[in-house]
Parts: sequence; C-alpha cells; structure tokens
Amino acid sequence: MFEYAPAPESREIVDIRPSYGLFINGEWVEPQGEERHKTVNPATEEVLAEVAWAGEADVDRAVQAAAKAFPVWSAMPGAERAKYLFRIARIIQERARELAVLETLDNGKPIRESRDVDLPLVAAHFFYYAGWADKLAYAGFGPDPRPLGVAGQVIPWNFPLLMLAWKIAPALACGNTVVLKPAETTPLTALAFADICRQADLPPGVVNIVTGAGGTGAALVNHPGVDKVAFTGSTEVGRLIARSLAGTRKKLTLELGGKAANIVFDDAPLDQAVEGIVNGIFFNQGHVCCAGSRLLVQESIAADLLEALKRRLGTLRLGDPLDKNTDIGAINSAEQLAKIRELSEAGEAEGAERWSPACPIPDRGYWFPPTLFTGVAQSHRIAREEIFGPVLSVLTFRTPAEAVEKANNTPYGLSAGVWTEKASLMLWMASRLRAGVVWSNTFNRFDPASPFGGFKESGYGREGGRHGLEGYLAL
Ligand code: NDP
Repeated sequence: MFEYAPAPESREIVDIRPSYGLFINGEWVEPQGEERHKTVNPATEEVLAEVAWAGEADVDRAVQAAAKAFPVWSAMPGAERAKYLFRIARIIQERARELAVLETLDNGKPIRESRDVDLPLVAAHFFYYAGWADKLAYAGFGPDPRPLGVAGQVIPWNFPLLMLAWKIAPALACGNTVVLKPAETTPLTALAFADICRQADLPPGVVNIVTGAGGTGAALVNHPGVDKVAFTGSTEVGRLIARSLAGTRKKLTLELGGKAANIVFDDAPLDQAVEGIVNGIFFNQGHVCCAGSRLLVQESIAADLLEALKRRLGTLRLGDPLDKNTDIGAINSAEQLAKIRELSEAGEAEGAERWSPACPIPDRGYWFPPTLFTGVAQSHRIAREEIFGPVLSVLTFRTPAEAVEKANNTPYGLSAGVWTEKASLMLWMASRLRAGVVWSNTFNRFDPASPFGGFKESGYGREGGRHGLEGYLAL
C-alpha cells in the first residue's frame, strides 16, 4: 500500500458548547437534577461537552410540551407541515459539513462516511417525508389518516443523526409531535438538530430533545402521555420495552439487532463481492444493525475469495476519523470495545481461527482492527451473537439450499446479501431468506423510499418509504 499524506478535515467549523441543557418547548432549559454526563471523542478520549441528564420530571415536562403542541401541529394542512420539513432538509444540507464533523467527533466514524453517507441520507429523509406530508390521504391508509399524538423516540449511537431523521421525519410529516432521546454516548448532533428546529421556526414543542441514559429512555417510553414509541437499539432493551408496553394503548415499532448473512455464490463477480463484503461488515466499524457479519461463501471459491479479501483488508486505513483517507474509525465507547474483545476471544476459545492485517493502533482512544474468523461453526458465539464491531465470521456452503438453511439459522432477520450472476437464483434465494431487506450484488444500501425493518428478534414495523408512515398513523 502506498503512503497517503494526512488529509484531516478541520474541526474549526464546529462550535461545541461546554455544556448543554434540554430542548423543551422550543427552548434550552436546565434539568431539575444536578446530574450531568460528559460526552467524549472516542478517537482521543477528549471530553467534548457536558450534557444534561433528564430525570422523570424533565421527561414529563417534554411530553407535556409535545402534547400541547399536538393540536396545532396536527391541524395544520399537510402542505404547511411540509414547508417546515423542506426547510429543515435544506438547513441540514447547508450545515452538512459542520454536522458531519460533529458526528465524527462524537461517534468516531470516519469523516468520509459521515460526510458521504450519513448526512446526504439525513437530508434525503427529510426531503422524502416532506413530500408525503400533503399526500397522506393517497398513501393507501384510507381517505383521512390521523396522527397518533406524542411520539416517544429512543435511538442508538451508531448513526445518531440518521436514526434521528428516520424517526422524526415521518412522525412530523404525519402530524405527530416528538420527544426524542439520543444515546448517552452520542448526543451532540441531536442537540445541534434542536438548534436547526429553532432556525427553521418550527413551532415550540413539536420537537423536544431530552438527553440521558437508559433510565431517561425508560421514563420516556413508560410515560402515560406518550401515544407511540419508536425504538432502535439492542434486542434486549427492545424486549424490555415490548414487555412494559404490552396491554397499553401505545403503538410500538422496534428496530433491533441483526446477524446478517452475506452469501457469495461461485458465479459471483469476485472483486465486486470483496468490496461488498468489506462494505457489509467494516462500514461504520461494523456498528451497523444490518451488517453482513456472517460471510457464507460457496466452498469451491472459498480459498480464492479469502485470499482476495485478506489482500483487500490489508489496504484499509485505520486511524484519525477526521482524516479523509481513513476507512476504519474508532469504536464508539470503552464498553463496546470490551464487548467486541470478549466475543472475539470467545471465537478463538471455541476453535475458530482469527486473522487481522498488520494494522498500527493509535495510543489513545478505542480501536479494534478489522478481523476475520475462519473455521467458524454455526454453534460458535461469533456466528450467533451480534458483535457490533469490525469482526467477520466466515462459513462455507455447497448448495443453495444449504446457504438458505444456514442464513436463516439465527434468531435475527434484518438483512441479507446475495452475490450471483443468475437472476433466477437471486429470486429463489430472496423468497426463502427470512430477512427484512435482501440486497442483490450490493450491501448496506439505503434509500429513504425503501422500507427497512426486521423479522423475528430483529423487531417489527418498518421505517422508510410509504411503509414508514404506517407506524405514525391511527389506522
Ligand atoms: P441499547 O439498546 O441499550 O441502547 C439503545 C437506546 O436505548 C439508547 O438510547 C439507550 O440509552 C436506550 N435505553 C437503554 N435502556 C433503556 C430502557 N430500559 N428503556 C428505554 N431506553 C433504553 O444499546 P447499547 O447502546 O447498550 O448497545 C448494546 C448492544 O446493542 C450493542 O452491542 C449492539 O449489539 C446492539 N445495538 C444494536 C443497534 C441496532 O441498530 N439494532 C444499535 C445499538 C446497539 P443509553 O445509550 O443512554 O444507554
């Protein structure tokens, strides 16, 4: 690999305040409790800011603000609501560079990804749902679909601003008001979004942002004034939420974990498949619920594919996420790093063979090299559990039926990928794979017009597309 000169993106464009309050009823307010949390840059462990910790009383205040705003917002003609959403989308585009740098600082993801993937998709989601706001009567949900009321939304740390967009854009388009809790380790872009709501003159209370940890999330989803809960995160917490909401009138959508199979047949274009495998599992350090974390490769080409894959992994650059050449950024937190290490050690202990390219690791921050395991059995933990890191488990198969059997042998069902030249085989596979999304000769492709969601323990409900409106309408 030839050397690249460093090409760091400047962080000057970002103005991070030393301390943030809560965004309630269109204003920054102080929480009632004293507790605060420091959010750090996972690439350097530098403290970026102090963030308020919302307790039950703060969550109550936010829900009440959203409830108060609901009659006005929901009664507004869809074309008027659309104007606000279009305005937000345009401001996001205008501030894209600043938001990308902020996301990279708080999350650890490479600037190339926040700039070229996250931010364009965030703006696209707001544009897309702005377009639906005045067409709800033609969306196939009856002539007069009504919003639900206050949506309580809890999002994770892997795509902080994108998950916010997936949740807030359809909720607002349908006429709901929102209280959103970002993840504890990545609150800064949600707080910047609060500022964007003010810039867009969004009526007070339509969007409220409460920061905190799991307890804040629990207070929000269990608040009696919340009419709809939308959650993205771990299956474990999703299960807790489903249990606590059972028997209530609240509508619930859950987008949970995954253990996707990326299936490569012997007729697949190998170089393209290698790129797709790399993008499938090493994109965003593997912190992707739909990551292609299990590679199923047809036995006859396994040796050739592995050789090409290892060669390609040797060219990935790990390091400063703000450097425009970086492919692999930092792991989001010390806790997540410990989890990835633990599962990787379990992989070795259970007999799989571990391989990583030679890869210098920075002294400070949380890092994990791109790693692949061969000799993986379906019973191994690394083949069954979501690692949520840059770790690929490689398994082989001989026939399409065996590939289907192995791909579906998981409690999850969020996504899958199939690499083959034969359209008939592709369709045969797609009809048998129990996954919400099946990509063909590509992986990790997202589009606001395309629904996304899970089967089995990956959750229920769909986000994106016309389907994404359904979770926010009373049908
Ligand atoms: P969690 O499911 O714990 O977190 C997701 C969100 O839910 C966060 O905002 C979190 O707050 C909040 N939360 C936590 N507990 C509760 C609760 N009882 N009620 C309501 N909200 C709650 O995921 P983690 O961040 O702990 O990650 C753990 C594992 O989950 C990862 O290793 C990965 O395997 C998986 N994961 C899957 C994701 C996906 O997209 N499917 C996304 C993120 C994680 P806070 O962050 O403040 O704790």
